[in-house]
Amino acid sequence: MKSAHKSLGSLLLAVALVVSLAGAPQDDPRAEIVNLRKYTHPNFTRVVLDIGKLREYTFGELRDPGRIYIDVLQAKLNPILQGQSYPVKAEYVSQIRISQKTTSTVRLVVDVEFSRIQSYRVYHLFDPFRLVVDIYPHGGQGQVPAQSQTPAQTPTPAGKPPQPGDRIHPAVKRQVDPNDPNFNGTSLARQLGLGVRTIVIDPGHGGPRPGTIGKSGLQEKEVNLGVALALRKLLREKAGLDAILTRESDVDVTLEDRTVIANQKRADLFVSIHSNAHRDRKRGGVETFFLNVSPDPSVVELAAAENATSTKNIGEMKSILQKIVQNSKVQESRELAEMIQRNLVKALSQDLPSIKNLGVKGGPFWVLIGGEMPSVLVEISHLSNAREEAKLRTKKYQELAAQGIYDGIVEYIRSLGKG
Ligand SMILES: [Zn+2]
Repeated sequence: MKSAHKSLGSLLLAVALVVSLAGAPQDDPRAEIVNLRKYTHPNFTRVVLDIGKLREYTFGELRDPGRIYIDVLQAKLNPILQGQSYPVKAEYVSQIRISQKTTSTVRLVVDVEFSRIQSYRVYHLFDPFRLVVDIYPHGGQGQVPAQSQTPAQTPTPAGKPPQPGDRIHPAVKRQVDPNDPNFNGTSLARQLGLGVRTIVIDPGHGGPRPGTIGKSGLQEKEVNLGVALALRKLLREKAGLDAILTRESDVDVTLEDRTVIANQKRADLFVSIHSNAHRDRKRGGVETFFLNVSPDPSVVELAAAENATSTKNIGEMKSILQKIVQNSKVQESRELAEMIQRNLVKALSQDLPSIKNLGVKGGPFWVLIGGEMPSVLVEISHLSNAREEAKLRTKKYQELAAQGIYDGIVEYIRSLGKG
């Protein structure tokens, strides 16, 4: 408990994130804050402050009584929100308050019981610009392991050993081969005796956000949904797993809501499905990502597109991302990514023998932030490549993609039993 307190304190020192201000309006330079959202769950509480415009902010802690505060500079509160408080039914958070602290500063306060909190994170997302506060109580399922919270720790994405708090714990009693004729195909997870039961599948984009668009007009959001629906069917019917989609139709879901869904459903795995785009229309192939800070400029470019933000914003996020990456299930996510990647390439090559394996990479993808389970983002093929776009349009190719991702997930579940 002591170390958790200490880490909260030193996290605070590392704060004061400064975002450069881009072209403030002439008249009133303040961004108007009109919306606050909160999500409560036994495992964590998330508060989202919709700001709309890029603004500097600072945050810190106050004691007696315990509070986490976030000050948004050059901001004004819509009168509807002024002095509002929002009760929270949790032992570790009692309420959220918001007020205009000075003429140009809006303060958000979360009243907390520090002794009941394991950790918290404050970070921002773009388009529209918004701040997110995640608070994790002690003893919550899927919580961030205490030892990975120390900010001074150097990130070791590749070598992090499994933590005691990890949810997926191999406790296998016997191995079952899903290809075994005696396998009845309804309860792979149960027969393996493993912790993986629930998988959240996230079809990227949706509604007014089409994602990338191919030359012939095929929209990424349609392809992603088609593959996700086929994957859900396979996971449910062939493996007896609980598969949930973040969207089942052409609707918009914010990036942070997608992981909220995964956390609230207590998902064991999170798979975000996308179709790729590249300036070089000759480039094609399959690549799979896990959350990491990547120095590779081509990945930064792709992440900017998937995050609906600019590459400049990605650079500014780097320091805060480094902290988040330490708290993520990087090693598990990388293994899951590798198995999905290999099986996906194999499946797609049945219909497109020349499909390229572009490998597994770390990347700063917002949708992978905040998930408490191994999380990956799959770029099934390139919509920017005419040949792959033509394939992506077909049900056959979409079903092969689903089959490949499914095979990767099953291989991952089975690998847990071999630990
Ligand atoms: Zn996408």
